[in-house]
Amino acid sequence: MAHCTLASLTTLRLGGPAGHIITVSDPADWTDAIRTIDLRGEEAPVVLGHGSNVIASDAGHLGTVVVMNTRGITATRVDRSTVEVTVQAGHPLSDLVRWAAAEDLAGMECLAGIPGTVGAAPVQNAGAYGQQISDALDRLTVWDWKTGRLRTLPAEACRLRHRGSRFKGSPGYWTILNVTFHLIRAKRAAPVTYRPLADELGVPIGTRPPVPEVAGAVLANRYRRGLLLDRNGPDARQVGSVFLNPPVTADQAARWSAAGCPVHHDSDGQLRASAGWLLEHVGCHPGEEVTDGVRCSNQRALTLTAHSRVTATGFTRALTLLSDRVKTATGVNLRPEPVAIGIWPDTTDG
Ligand SMILES: Cc1cc2nc3c(=O)[nH]c(=O)nc-3n(C[C@H](O)[C@H](O)[C@H](O)COP(=O)(O)OP(=O)(O)OC[C@H]3O[C@@H](n4cnc5c(N)ncnc54)[C@H](O)[C@@H]3O)c2cc1C
Repeated sequence: MAHCTLASLTTLRLGGPAGHIITVSDPADWTDAIRTIDLRGEEAPVVLGHGSNVIASDAGHLGTVVVMNTRGITATRVDRSTVEVTVQAGHPLSDLVRWAAAEDLAGMECLAGIPGTVGAAPVQNAGAYGQQISDALDRLTVWDWKTGRLRTLPAEACRLRHRGSRFKGSPGYWTILNVTFHLIRAKRAAPVTYRPLADELGVPIGTRPPVPEVAGAVLANRYRRGLLLDRNGPDARQVGSVFLNPPVTADQAARWSAAGCPVHHDSDGQLRASAGWLLEHVGCHPGEEVTDGVRCSNQRALTLTAHSRVTATGFTRALTLLSDRVKTATGVNLRPEPVAIGIWPDTTDG
């Protein structure tokens, strides 16, 4: 058990003190770890993986923060083509994708390069390049804080949707301990559905290149577009995209796509406009200083980076300023993608 700040646990490097921090490195230690957790009257502790999708408040969190650092991949053959892969929650997602590609296992090759842990990936149904965690997820093992028991949740019970799930809606209620996927043993990846990926590979949409080739092309494309986390680079303090692609009505979709905005149907059939395009439309550009100490990254308007002595409050002020700008100019509401944790003035506590 250690005392330190949330800033040291998050990629934005923002956030005040934590009451206690417990790092769980061995799955067998879970039962012992929970005995030492001081909930301070809360229903559940804050759980973190690599802190790459959270904005931690300046006031911090009074209770316990559990950092999931458990690692391990086990694979069993289900039938001639399906392999069941169970992964500990703290395992880096990028390492799992690399392993799967090397094993010629298809189903998550487009997730290459997404920072963070496997346990956090179902929380916002992490996805990219036309693929998302829900495509391969079979079930999760969770600790249910209400009943104090382990539970197995089948994928259907997780309410996975575009960058959301039942976990994102009720943070902390369940802690994900391990995740089981069904991957397909195949020399060929799932069909490429995303135009920039098809262009990167130089193939038509619908093609099924070898799994490692697709994972490699995703990494190359992410590198070029500033979508990889370089912890030592000038854009190191970030959480990736700060806004979700907003849902739009058919009228808004027609209007904004005529103006050049990319609009797509998400996996639930909802029309969504490109948040990055809308930001650029209202004048945001890569490298722009949005407020004191908050800039758009050098390659994207949609990624905000923290600098100098900016606070979490200052960072969220920049988000509000940008979403207000877009709302006034286009009528479209932008909602933040990262999760706010800790004590926030007036409104949020976790
Ligand atoms: C450069 C960059 C690029 C990115 N690109 C993408 C992308 O392409 N697609 C995408 O979807 N996301 C992307 N992200 C966002 C982020 O990497 C993902 O959301 C990732 O899944 C977060 O993992 P994490 O371990 O850092 O989670 P954290 O930030 O530690 O936690 C995120 C949320 O999950 C909860 N949580 C974490 N672990 C658990 C657990 N074991 N049990 C229960 N709840 C838990 C936390 O309480 C919090 O609410 C990007 C971020 C960066 C910095």
